[in-house]
Amino acid sequence: MKPKANSMIAFALAIVFATAASHVIAAGDGSGTVYTGDVIQGKKVVSALDVGDLEAGKKHLLYFQGVQTPTGHHWYVSVVVAKGARPGKRVTLTSGVHGDEMSSIRTVQIIMDKLDPARMSGTVMAVLDISPPALESMQRRWPNSGRGIDLIDMNREWPGNENGATAASRHAGIVFNRLLRPNSDLAIDFHTSTTGLECGAINIGDRTIPEVKKMIDLFPVRQVWDSPAYAGVLHTAFVKAGIPSFCPEVGAARVLNVEIIQQFVEGTMNVFKHHGIIEGPIGRTAADVGVFIGSGAFPVLATQGGFVEHLVRLYDKVKVGQKLTVQRNAFGEVVAEYVSAADGEVGALRSDASSEPGNVLVFILSNNAPAQKDGVYPE
Ligand SMILES: [Zn+2]
Repeated sequence: MKPKANSMIAFALAIVFATAASHVIAAGDGSGTVYTGDVIQGKKVVSALDVGDLEAGKKHLLYFQGVQTPTGHHWYVSVVVAKGARPGKRVTLTSGVHGDEMSSIRTVQIIMDKLDPARMSGTVMAVLDISPPALESMQRRWPNSGRGIDLIDMNREWPGNENGATAASRHAGIVFNRLLRPNSDLAIDFHTSTTGLECGAINIGDRTIPEVKKMIDLFPVRQVWDSPAYAGVLHTAFVKAGIPSFCPEVGAARVLNVEIIQQFVEGTMNVFKHHGIIEGPIGRTAADVGVFIGSGAFPVLATQGGFVEHLVRLYDKVKVGQKLTVQRNAFGEVVAEYVSAADGEVGALRSDASSEPGNVLVFILSNNAPAQKDGVYPE
């Protein structure tokens, strides 16, 4: 009995120490920057950040300490802060919430390279690789070790929960509470479409919010889905915290699309100019590119398994009843034909040329779409 009693005491002490440690970490509530004392590849590590603490007129490259890994290390998130010489708006740019989205990360990198803090009034913070374990394997979802490995869509977790039931939920809570929310007056959460489902350039946001509408209108981007989207996405969590935000979709997953990236760089620089963070004339806007704004993104779902061939392309105008896609079995026999239930524009197309039943084959961006099926979202 004695060894068992000792081990129980040790277990109880471990709980006490773990609790004490978590209180130390929880000090970062936006009231100040906490440096852990660690330096990784020349970058200082913070577990909480207040950009007000950083030296003005300079760029700062930091690692933010996220949730722990299964072996007791931490996942770190790369943070770049361009702290203007003069005070002003604080804009946050995020990417990498999904791990297979590369053009969104490159968009934010290019924007940060263009900024000269000595000439800025305000602060721009970039948080580039929010879901590190998903990025390590170029996949959308966070590999959670709760029951073997299950895959968690981190863009259904926001604003997260520091005491949540999964590491992804806790990571979201830590990042949101100690890094994003305390340092943002406005925020843009950059995504791309997902592996197997390709879009062009789309902005997703709730245009009933004046600051969101203003930002979206400053982007020379062809398509807009005017919607708050779903609970748990990062830009909606920002909005609920009082921080106007929306979600650009920068083309296809897994690749860099230089032409589409440039549209979002230009739009973001326009936002900075509009708010006086940088100087210069406003570039092209939504009005200059013939923007199409849809209130719905109607999904056409596969009813069969089989090989997929589209008869339309991204951005095409479509009408109710127009044939969009055919599907064949292995013999080459047509097993399904899909027609549009809405007038609008093609907003996304399945890029994997086979499909199981239930997958999205086409999204139609539309203003007369039938009621939208929940749980599908072209991010
Ligand atoms: Zn995404």
